[in-house]
Amino acid sequence: MHTEPPILADLRSDTVTRPTPAMREAMHRAPVGDDVFGEDPTVNALEERVAAMLGKERALFVPSGTMANLLATLSQTRPGESVILHEDSHPFRYESGNLAMVAGVLARTAGGPLGILAPDAVKAAIHQTDDPHISNTTLIALENTTNRGGGAVYPLDTVAAMGRLARERGIRTHCDGARLFNALVASRHTAADYAGHVDSVSFCFSKGLGAPVGSILASDSGTMARAYRYRKMLGGGMRQAGVLAAAAMHALDHHIDRLAEDHARLQRFRAAVEGTPGVSFPMPSPTNILYVDVPDAEATLAALKARGVLGLSLGGNRIRLVFHLDVDDAAADAAAHAFKEAAAAG
Ligand SMILES: *Cc1c(COP(=O)(O)O)cnc(C)c1O
Repeated sequence: MHTEPPILADLRSDTVTRPTPAMREAMHRAPVGDDVFGEDPTVNALEERVAAMLGKERALFVPSGTMANLLATLSQTRPGESVILHEDSHPFRYESGNLAMVAGVLARTAGGPLGILAPDAVKAAIHQTDDPHISNTTLIALENTTNRGGGAVYPLDTVAAMGRLARERGIRTHCDGARLFNALVASRHTAADYAGHVDSVSFCFSKGLGAPVGSILASDSGTMARAYRYRKMLGGGMRQAGVLAAAAMHALDHHIDRLAEDHARLQRFRAAVEGTPGVSFPMPSPTNILYVDVPDAEATLAALKARGVLGLSLGGNRIRLVFHLDVDDAAADAAAHAFKEAAAAG
């Protein structure tokens, strides 16, 4: 009988991390209450802590990054208006068309290298007119780090320039910081440095930070009052959510600095694989997301899987590998060894 090999490294995504024993212990100990009544002390503490970290008036714990982005749009736009975002951004590519269906807004895409919006492209995409034919721009959304840009980090200057442009034009700004802490660890900026230039910010606890569930959105209290109502409307009002907030809190205490280890392991993997015939790296990958080009992504992934290593195909010749909490030095080295063999086999 054919048996699957044991999994040495699951590099499909940083969402596959499982809560550590210490995180489970923190979840076990968490005081809880009904958060829809505002009575969960752990959720309240988390929201206050994150608002302070980001220099925003209020934060809201939500089930997913998708909901955080959607609430940011719902609470800062009206149906019929338009949002500018990168053509490779997560909300445009991977959020099931919710901007159109739920928020009722038009997505105007703009470009720029490595998923980073080019300020000139944003400027050109802005529409503000009394002409009733045209959908006016009321929100610009950026992503830091960029998912499809290989975990690229927004230069702080670019965020500042975008914020300035938007304010001059009376347009709101949102930062989808699903992997904001990867950006901070790589750039040595603080969360407030980035957040100060945009009106709303979200990030995920469920990715590199290693919590099982949860994201958070922060902004001024007027925007958050609307987001709070929309969260309930969408079914995101959770009850004893403190067990999840405790995991998030634990992640903030223990899993931020260690993101540097994930970045170092990615570079170590890359250095080990570099030079393998037929294999190339299309992007710099300064954080935890590595794209690798091979002649046939599916064939290489199948050969990798047979060696206990999982990755994700982007179709054609591109593979995505993500380094995270559950991949230690030994696993990264084993994955590199397997990758070289798989590239030769596939
Ligand atoms: C994962 C991700 C999201 C969505 O988060 P979910 O919790 O999976 O809904 C949003 N933006 C970016 C950049 C992401 O990588």
